[in-house]
Amino acid sequence: MPQTARQTRTPDTSPGQGYISALPPEGALPGFPRRLCLLGGTGSIGASALSVVENNPERFVVAALAGARNLALLAEQAARFRPARLGVLTAQGADALAGMLPAGYRPDIVHGPEGYASLAADADSDVVVSAIVGAAGLLPTLAAVQAGKIVALANKESLVLAGNLIRQACRDSGAVILPVDSEHNALFQALGGPGLPELPHVASLVLTASGGPFRDKSAAFLQTVTREQALHHPNWSMGPKISVDSATLMNKGLEVIEACRLFGLPPQRVEVVVHPQSIVHSLARYHDGSLLAHLGPPDMRLAIAYCLGYPGRIPLDLAPVDLVALGSLTFEAPRHDDFPCLSLARHSLTLGAWGPVALNAANEEAVDLFLADRIAFLDIPRLVEFALNAPAGVYADDLDAILEIDRATRHRVRERAGGSAHRG
Ligand code: NAD
Ligand code: MG
Repeated sequence: MPQTARQTRTPDTSPGQGYISALPPEGALPGFPRRLCLLGGTGSIGASALSVVENNPERFVVAALAGARNLALLAEQAARFRPARLGVLTAQGADALAGMLPAGYRPDIVHGPEGYASLAADADSDVVVSAIVGAAGLLPTLAAVQAGKIVALANKESLVLAGNLIRQACRDSGAVILPVDSEHNALFQALGGPGLPELPHVASLVLTASGGPFRDKSAAFLQTVTREQALHHPNWSMGPKISVDSATLMNKGLEVIEACRLFGLPPQRVEVVVHPQSIVHSLARYHDGSLLAHLGPPDMRLAIAYCLGYPGRIPLDLAPVDLVALGSLTFEAPRHDDFPCLSLARHSLTLGAWGPVALNAANEEAVDLFLADRIAFLDIPRLVEFALNAPAGVYADDLDAILEIDRATRHRVRERAGGSAHRG
């Protein structure tokens, strides 16, 4: 019997831990214009966030903006939005950036992980958009949470690495987490937005997955996948790492973990269904059999604007979903055997807190190697599985332990790939 049918008949009525942070009433939230700190401003999410800001100048001010290596784009964005503080990866980058800014505009420029964390915690901003890619987003996200900010969280990896630490820090500081990831944003809305911390009557969460560019490709085809093919997502335009994650279905695996951490439910109550049109962004299944879904165009500005304007809605100039033109919305089961990353992510949750940390580190390294043409597409799940078979060693109960597992796993995966890399 399929798992979803069994779950529907005998719902797990245990309450779970509830939503990761408190959600204060509207009167306790900052008014407009809101001051934003945008981390990962030069990326795909960053560009979408800046587009929302640009179209709503009376609602938002960019107080701080950070990128990493793309200094030309950061300089151009900074010249447009004039934030008082900027962040880059290195000290040399900070010097170079200073020389690229317009005459008379002299922002404070910080660099490195400490620099990003100082921007995230700065009292000058109300809302931190956490849109750095990968584990590099963890320390700035934690800094924002510890400083009690409203955090519009795109960086799902930080929840995968340190969901418990972030939950605890929200409790201590009163920080508010709002999910930017489209599925989790959809669930947040389908679960009742501001009223959801208790998650009453929820049987399960149903994450939709587009299935990625290889949804209907044969197992033989998957052995030949190139970098360019993996980067070409059918529905979404995203950064390279998440595009590859979508092609392997690791993105959905990370999102299962993200959903558990955000909504405080066990993985058995997070389902995944493939929905190639990417119009239904996710669904909440209630104990009475109702399914509440969130639908919308596949454009990240929808989720970003919801978070920035929370709890109100900001009008957006997106092409409306034409239901008649669409004609039908389809759903199918994921192909677990051909896309093992989804099952590996679930498996990591059975290995204690270190499992998801090792999963994420192995995946980031494997994706980097794939993007550098050093390993094949199917080596990504192989390397992740290799990492999860390693003896645990350290229990991931504090930040130092998490960072040590991350470091050690990356090292092991690099060593292993060095021995088995078969491409030039
Ligand atoms: P991207 O590659 O387009 O941009 C990444 C950003 O992070 C850039 O600004 C880059 O300069 C910065 N960055 C990279 N390495 C850094 C480091 N070491 N230190 C500081 N900054 C660094 O990625 P993206 O697609 O915008 O995704 C960003 C995050 O949002 C990821 O966690 C991703 O999973 C999540 N997300 C993205 C989408 C999407 O549609 N793009 C959707 C849902 C969630
Ligand atoms: Mg998503």
